[in-house]
Amino acid sequence: MIPAQFDYVAPASVEDALAALAEHGDDAKIIAGGQSLLPVLRMRLNAPEWIIDLGRIESLRGVRDDGDSIVIGAMTPHSVVGSDPLVAEHATLITRAVEHLADAQVRHRGTFGGALAHADPAGDLGAPVRALGASFVIQGPGGTRTVSADDFFVDLFETAIGDDEILTEVRVPKHTGWGAHYEKFVRVAHQWPIVAVAATVRVEGGTIAEARIGLTNMGSTPLRAAAVEAALAGQPATEAAVRAAAAHAAEGTHPPSDLNGDADYRRHLATVITRRAVLAAAGA
Ligand SMILES: Cc1cc2nc3c(=O)[nH]c(=O)nc-3n(C[C@H](O)[C@H](O)[C@H](O)COP(=O)(O)OP(=O)(O)OC[C@H]3O[C@@H](n4cnc5c(N)ncnc54)[C@H](O)[C@@H]3O)c2cc1C
Repeated sequence: MIPAQFDYVAPASVEDALAALAEHGDDAKIIAGGQSLLPVLRMRLNAPEWIIDLGRIESLRGVRDDGDSIVIGAMTPHSVVGSDPLVAEHATLITRAVEHLADAQVRHRGTFGGALAHADPAGDLGAPVRALGASFVIQGPGGTRTVSADDFFVDLFETAIGDDEILTEVRVPKHTGWGAHYEKFVRVAHQWPIVAVAATVRVEGGTIAEARIGLTNMGSTPLRAAAVEAALAGQPATEAAVRAAAAHAAEGTHPPSDLNGDADYRRHLATVITRRAVLAAAGA
């Protein structure tokens, strides 16, 4: 289908984009890469009168080093994030997840911030950014605020970004030297995950000193597998120890049931995939 008619503006600065948002209010929608918004418009699930395109705002693009963190601009395309050396060195888990995100065309157009703002519970970036303890920089008429990954994801397709605000960048604490793996379970290539697990671990002398694990599509938002993280700390990086810890993966989750699998199937998958992801991350 063809989207309903809309007017279009492409401001050159965040301030101008915020002014356009303030002027058009509920009648306006931000567009980043359009990879999720355009299908929504074409299906006429939403029909904004104004589209505000962030594509000309150069300050929203790129990855930079900021001491203890790396900072990823909201408009940085997945393909750039996936090949960025700073991300690969300090947030390897994100590199691993982007490798599994959609296909090359979508990775070329879709953006890091757009995917996170869209907050699809099956999206591949939510679990890694939660596991890494990222924070989200959001700019609005009242200035800039920073929201932790734990508070950013509110519900299905709902985040802490207000209607009059723009996500500008994501700050990711460096996890230099940590092993990382993103294990995604799909039926066919390039599919959204039925379940996926983002695991990053710090191994010292064969022992898992620390583990951070995120779950994709095991609830209405990306989740942390806190029970697994606690069970892994101080354990040897062996198949038996990781298997025992991974058995806790579905604790506190509320996975959906759909045509790809029911909730019990997803709970089972989570334990299997968590074991595989942690073992791979630990290099065991
Ligand atoms: C065929 C196909 C397959 C896909 N497969 C996968 C997959 O396997 N895994 C996966 O994770 N994703 C997948 N995607 C989605 C892809 O990751 C998109 O890039 C992403 O969901 C949206 O990013 P975007 O930049 O295109 O945002 P848009 O589509 O432009 O925007 C999405 C939403 O976020 C809002 N928004 C965007 N940027 C901002 C901002 N800076 N501040 C505030 N609000 C903002 C928009 O208003 C809109 O509501 C797929 C998409 C397609 C088309």
